[in-house]
Amino acid sequence: MAKIEREKIRLGVSACLLGERVRYDGGHKRDNALLRALGAEVEWVPVCPEVELGLGVPRPPIVLVGSRRAPRLVEPTSGRDLTGPMRRVASARVSQLTRLGLDGFVLKSRSPSCGLRNVPVRGRDGRSRATGRGLFAAELARRLPRLAIEEESRLANPRLRARFVARVRAAAQRRARAESAADSAERTQSAMPTPR
Ligand code: SF4
Repeated sequence: MAKIEREKIRLGVSACLLGERVRYDGGHKRDNALLRALGAEVEWVPVCPEVELGLGVPRPPIVLVGSRRAPRLVEPTSGRDLTGPMRRVASARVSQLTRLGLDGFVLKSRSPSCGLRNVPVRGRDGRSRATGRGLFAAELARRLPRLAIEEESRLANPRLRARFVARVRAAAQRRARAESAADSAERTQSAMPTPR
């Protein structure tokens, strides 16, 4: 039984994709096709950076503004700049996920926190002038460059989904082997007689 657990694919996921009601409007974005395709063999690790930042549900929407390379995260209704607080939350959460050991991550597309590609970035006039990367996604990709990361919208494509699944399965097998080697080393160590 323990062996099966170890060999499950461990994926981080934007919590709203699992059906958790964490979006700014109190809703979710449950992705049934994704869950049907991967559900049985995956241990999900849900993350909602905006809730973990303490923004609450429901909350005013937030957007990326400024430059494509270094956008700021802003709440337009109040003018509050959340860039620094979100960077700190993202950094701490990615450290925790690194220790946990993930095989991949599925992110919600177009979110100013979770989106990996093509997230609208507004100019000073409030119009979208460019596209960039959400702040949590940027931290995750920067700190874990070898992790398989995809957006749910791209995983609707069977070819991209098959490629992603192959990568995360291989990562899960490597992790299971490493955990098993560490277990045996620990057992050997504890079986050795204590020196007098
Ligand atoms: S996209 Fe990310 S920040 Fe937005 S509700 Fe989903 S998990 Fe939370």
